[in-house]
Amino acid sequence: MIGNLSKLKTQIGDPIEYTWSLENPTVINHLIGLPIRLSWNGDIHCTKCSKKTKKSFGEGFCYTCFSTAPEAAECIIRPELCRAHLGEGRDIEWEERNHNQPHLVYLAASDAVKVGVTRISQIPTRWIDQGAMKAIILAETPNRYEAGRLEVALKSFYTDKTNWQKMLKNEIDDAIDLVNEKWELHDQLPSDLTQFFIEEDEVTELVYPVDQYPEKVKSLSFDKTPVIEGELTGIKGQYLLFSDGSVFNVRKHTGYYTEITII
Ligand SMILES: [Zn+2]
Ligand SMILES: [Zn+2]
Repeated sequence: MIGNLSKLKTQIGDPIEYTWSLENPTVINHLIGLPIRLSWNGDIHCTKCSKKTKKSFGEGFCYTCFSTAPEAAECIIRPELCRAHLGEGRDIEWEERNHNQPHLVYLAASDAVKVGVTRISQIPTRWIDQGAMKAIILAETPNRYEAGRLEVALKSFYTDKTNWQKMLKNEIDDAIDLVNEKWELHDQLPSDLTQFFIEEDEVTELVYPVDQYPEKVKSLSFDKTPVIEGELTGIKGQYLLFSDGSVFNVRKHTGYYTEITII
């Protein structure tokens, strides 16, 4: 399989199914247990405009697209800055279609509880990409800005970052009770923030295809190591895990022209 990398596509299941998404998407769960090689030919193509770029900005953009594309705007990382509900933004039509739409605020558990915001269509993909073990929806808001406002309030209780090393070592806290966390929050927050809470308390559990978790994690990048070889022991979040403890973040290499082979 050869082509420009993009993030792994996922399908929830027991375990989650991972697909290497090139022109001919291929499920890669069966590669676990096998020695594989990833080789990068040195080219990076912008995920937005397809032009060659020396360096990748954000998640696979050339500098121009990173500075202008709505997919790389500040309100992606900081939803509370979104102005889509006011009819403003880098690309008003894109904002209307993507951000002036119902959003969810969720709690996801791994080693700790993390808060996040996403669109309904991105569930459970977003949780899987973060390597969460379980997750619950707190609230559904009419737009991205309102979700961001709630998230900001929740950041004083929870982190909004995934500790990726702990996530990859499978250090999890089994004692976390997300339903309990949700309703305790509800009692502590002012009503202008809890008005969007939903009654539904479904907890989604996520099972990753991993034979063996690393004890120590070493992150690999094509910029330093253009050819990576090792025995694949699992896939979690957007990471490939190898038997020697090295890990490869697929999403971080969006746009890198890469070949993957069994050796
Ligand atoms: Zn571009
Ligand atoms: Zn926005």
